[in-house]
Amino acid sequence: MTELKIPADLLPADGRFGSGPAKIRPESIKALAVDRADLLGTSHRQAPIRRLVAEVKEGLATLFALPDGYQVVLGNGGSTLFWDLAIASLIRRRSAHGSFGEFSAKFAAAAAAAPHLEDPAVLFAEPGSIVVPAAVPGVDSYAWAHNETSTGAIAPVARVQGADEDALMIIDGTSAAGGVQVDVAESDVYYFAPQKTFGSDGGLWLALLSPAALDRAAEIAATDRWIPESLSLATAIDNSAKDQTLNTPAIATLIMLADQLRWLNDHGGLPFAAARTAESSTRLYDWAEASPVATPFVADHAQRSPVVGTIDFTGVDAARIAAVLRENGVVDTEPYRKLGRNQLRVGMYPNVDPDDVSRLCRCIDWILERVAD
Ligand SMILES: *Cc1c(COP(=O)(O)O)cnc(C)c1O
Repeated sequence: MTELKIPADLLPADGRFGSGPAKIRPESIKALAVDRADLLGTSHRQAPIRRLVAEVKEGLATLFALPDGYQVVLGNGGSTLFWDLAIASLIRRRSAHGSFGEFSAKFAAAAAAAPHLEDPAVLFAEPGSIVVPAAVPGVDSYAWAHNETSTGAIAPVARVQGADEDALMIIDGTSAAGGVQVDVAESDVYYFAPQKTFGSDGGLWLALLSPAALDRAAEIAATDRWIPESLSLATAIDNSAKDQTLNTPAIATLIMLADQLRWLNDHGGLPFAAARTAESSTRLYDWAEASPVATPFVADHAQRSPVVGTIDFTGVDAARIAAVLRENGVVDTEPYRKLGRNQLRVGMYPNVDPDDVSRLCRCIDWILERVAD
């Protein structure tokens, strides 16, 4: 470790640039430690925690202008568990997937491994680009990620044209939800977890379900398919309607999530959040375009994520830059581990101040002047 001490006046006010877990607002931590500390360590079956769950549901319904008939449903296990739940409780016979990075690939692989389903129809795109599934007769569930957190590529959320009448659109919104505009009516299932844009901790999954998705869950629950209780969407729907979860949730996660939703909605909701992430990401990409050694990894401007920016470096070791940043308290700019590129990845969720993104860029320039060979 060489001593490269970045001058204090260059440093971001907050050095957290992770893509998940990501920066949590100090006010959310205060909600935990002070304002709502009396909720911690109390029963999730009693009114105060059920009111907290109701507050989260209402906050999400407001943020996403939830269309008529849609419901907010939640449970334990994060987005990874939701893939298994969708395989158990939503996919009838065959799914189709757009696979363009680690997360979208994982859901496709899980569906392919499920013994009760037919082989999925999977379209692949190189990391750094995107692909959405194409219509295939007989496919009852279409799945892709809104934002591929592993590569920093953002995909459209729009119903697949030509799909079977009752096919479901199942969108992984984990890093996009709450930081990017979306028309929820273009999806049947928009699911996510709270540790990214929602500035809370991990462990929960949350899903916005259309009437068709609610019907599908009931339809599959009524068949003789074996569905483990923790993967039963019908059970989760019942519990969520009562402002509960099947088993004990992390109350701290709910408190911080509720605080974040209040903050987002008080400041103008999704338009506010989307404008803020657009501002941050424009600053990052413009800086990279102008740099002689940095280039945005995602070539197509329209596919560049406003919430997770990936920047390739030539002629300098990006891992070294990330290490120096880390020594100076600017953390989690390392790329997604399995992508294997000479790259930095920058989380720019609404909690990140655009001015801090500018300061991060200045810090990287400062480091480049000292480590370039
Ligand atoms: C982080 C992430 C996941 C996994 O979320 P967990 O809550 O850790 O299971 C899935 N999909 C996307 C797009 C993600 O960004």
